[in-house]
Amino acid sequence: MPVKKFAAFFKAYGIALGVILAAMPLATKAGGLLPGYQTMKDTLTFSTSLISLLAIAVLFGYRRQIGQAVFPVVPGKSISREQLRRRTNYGTVTPIMLGSLAILGLIAYLTFLNLSIANVAEGQRQLIAGKQDMDMILFNTPLVAIPFLAPICLSYAMMFFGAATAFVWYGLIEYVQAEIRISDEDLIAKPYVLMNRHDFKLDDDSTMTDSIPFFYFEWDSQLEGPIAHVSGPLCETHNRKLQYKGKRGIGKHEWACIDPDKKKKNHIFILSYDTVIIRQMAKAKASTLLQAEIDGSLPSI
Ligand SMILES: [Zn+2]
Repeated sequence: MPVKKFAAFFKAYGIALGVILAAMPLATKAGGLLPGYQTMKDTLTFSTSLISLLAIAVLFGYRRQIGQAVFPVVPGKSISREQLRRRTNYGTVTPIMLGSLAILGLIAYLTFLNLSIANVAEGQRQLIAGKQDMDMILFNTPLVAIPFLAPICLSYAMMFFGAATAFVWYGLIEYVQAEIRISDEDLIAKPYVLMNRHDFKLDDDSTMTDSIPFFYFEWDSQLEGPIAHVSGPLCETHNRKLQYKGKRGIGKHEWACIDPDKKKKNHIFILSYDTVIIRQMAKAKASTLLQAEIDGSLPSI
């Protein structure tokens, strides 16, 4: 089966590809694929390879967490929204971000290198007419006289770091998938099922604002006796989890909806429940609602 062999090759070499890429700076130094200043090439290539290889080692130690996030349960079983979010973050968003980091690094490196060469040429009142003039500057400028030295080094390291870790990340997902014996066939034929969701609110007399926070519970429709997994309280407007801020008088508790980016956009809810009571109340109501839902959806005999 040549196709199976090809797949096995890729699975085994996803990680190796990253390691090779991490060692690339050392290789490209010889090939001269990227232009760069002569005096800093040795240091830069060595340190970049070192950083990338270290990052790979750290990632490899982190492989179980990655695997658990991407394959939370056996294919075909139900997953919660939180599990789906983690699966997307670990399986798709992070490696794509690392890949983008590599591309950004390449663009930044070439941009800063160009600016730097132009800067040197200007200082020497020299016109860059062709490749020769540029090579002269790259070859003859001493380390201390290189403009934009820090951004050049940083973007160079970022480029290889991003590319090597992106490859290894994908490689680790493949590795874990093979390790826990989930085949691509399983994943295609039996995709993960999202749990059923039910939104609800708690009755609260003491609320001062127009909107009352809501909860949701999820339940696995594939199970015989499903249980309600409660999440919340959440702000209806922003769909964010509320944070408990403390007691504010008799039977009054402050809960805040906090914007992680803009601290000024926070707003508060005054509720009659603290964290312990609200959890009990929500769990009790969720169980009742779930029972009603199951009883209603099943045909009565
Ligand atoms: Zn809000």
